[in-house]
Order: sequence, then structure tokens, then C-alpha cells
Amino acid sequence: MGKLTNKVAVVTGGNSGIGLSTAKAFIDEGAKVVIFGRDQATLDRAVETLGKDAAGVKGDVTSDADLTRLFDMTKAHFGKVDVVFANAGIAEFRPVEAANDEHFDKLFEINVKGAFKTIQKAVPALNDGASIILTTSAADDTGFAGTSVYSATKAAVRSFARTFSAELVRRNIRVNAVSPGPVATPLYGRMGMSEEEAKGIESHFASLVPLKRFAEAHEIAQAVVFLASSDSSYVVGTELVVDGGLTQL
Ligand code: NAD
Repeated sequence: MGKLTNKVAVVTGGNSGIGLSTAKAFIDEGAKVVIFGRDQATLDRAVETLGKDAAGVKGDVTSDADLTRLFDMTKAHFGKVDVVFANAGIAEFRPVEAANDEHFDKLFEINVKGAFKTIQKAVPALNDGASIILTTSAADDTGFAGTSVYSATKAAVRSFARTFSAELVRRNIRVNAVSPGPVATPLYGRMGMSEEEAKGIESHFASLVPLKRFAEAHEIAQAVVFLASSDSSYVVGTELVVDGGLTQL
């Protein structure tokens, strides 16, 4: 019997990177999974890879209507919601002098408001005893130059894990965060940098990590499985750091 047998999970940003790997890990542990993402073609491909225990819903975490449809469709398709992995997010790095309003608003709209709304729309659909996991980042705990806005979005999300826990504990709903260090995903290719700049940032981050490498997405997924399952039944409001020692050594 898997750690998530008979559980139904929703994964935002489940069509790529950490979200896709976690959707696969959830299914391997016996769950049914609904993945949510903006791009129909990658959603379709992901659902095909994940197999019969997966379904896809296209939408944007900044849209109330899309999120309402996500939880309505999950209940219609699989009957209930036991786990929400609020993972969708973007990264863009700019030094403070170059960080204009557009950069600030886009990151806060998706990473902070998107995570907030995901949980706000999930709460009425969730079973008592459910588990919520938010994706933060090693960046919320350190002062990486050039990442002020991104890091602040993740610090806000880390705060949500505490306050949502305090509000939902009466229903035995546990809220926690997973905090990855650098992970090999398509995220770095979506930051609006040239390939050379992206490679430069990647090798810089890898050199800072005590393990001297990026994580593979499945290494983050296993931590999320722990937080989603009853293995973590006494873990509430915390941030599980999975960063190769980056923020700890
Ligand atoms: P990714 O680009 O592969 O995945 C991000 C996912 O979020 C994609 O599926 C994308 O479609 C989705 N998404 C983005 N904006 C959305 C929106 N408005 N509505 C719906 N979906 C949206 O990158 P990833 O590395 O897997 O990132 C997943 C999470 O992990 C993000 O929150 C990111 O900030 C966080 N993170 C990543 C790293 C890393 O090094 N890759 C490190 C720490 C934290």
C-alpha cells in the first residue's frame, strides 16, 4: 500500500519541473492527481505521461474563475480533495536599480497572490485532515544579490504556511512549505535571459551549494510526498529545506 493510497491531490504548475515530478511521485504512492497549468499542450503531454490516475485542468493561478473550476472539476472527477501542492511560480532576477513596477507586480501577482488564491479557493473543497504544501525557496532565507523581489515573494509564501496553519488547524488541515535550493527544471530558461546568462547563473548557484550540484526534481518531490502523507502527521507550519546544505552550512 502506498503512502497516498485513496488520496486525491491537486498540483499547480503540475505540467513542468518540480510539479510534474511530484505529480508522478504522488501517483507512485497511490494517489489520483489533478495537475493545473497554463499551457494546454504541455498539460496534455504531462497527463499522457502520468497515465490514468491523472487529469489536467488548464488555467492561471491569478484567476479566481480558473481556480474555482480547478477544485470543482477535481471533485467532479475524483470526488474529493485531500492534498494541495501550491507550487506554480515564476522566477526573474533583477538588481534593485533595474527592478521596475512591471517586474515587481508580475512576481507578486503570480507567486504571492496566486498561492494565496489557490489556498483560498481550495479551503472549501478540502477534506478535514487534508495536507497543503507550498513551494518556497532557499532564496527566502538568504540575501542573494539581484533577487530582492523574487526572494520577498517566497518569504511571503513562507509566512502563509504559518498563518494558514493557525487558521486551518481546527480542521486538522496541516500546512507546510518545501524550500528547494537550485533544481534542474525549465524555470531558468523562462527568466528572459540569454542561454549564456542562464548558464552563468546556474553554474554560480551550483558552486554555492555544499553538494556542488543542482537537485533533480524528484529529490524535491520525495520531500513533498512526506509532507503530503501521514508520515508527517505531527509537522505543522514548518518549512522543509531541501537545498543540498545551501542555507544551512
Ligand atoms: P517550472 O518553470 O518548470 O515550473 C513552474 C510551473 O508553474 C509551470 O508548470 C508553469 O506553467 C506554472 N506556472 C507559472 N505561472 C503560472 C500561473 N500564473 N498560473 C498557473 N501556472 C503557472 O519551474 P520549477 O522549478 O518546477 O518551479 C516550481 C516552483 O519551485 C516555483 O514556485 C519556483 O519558484 C520554485 N523553486 C524553483 C527552484 C529551482 O531552482 N528550479 C528553486 C526554488 C524554488
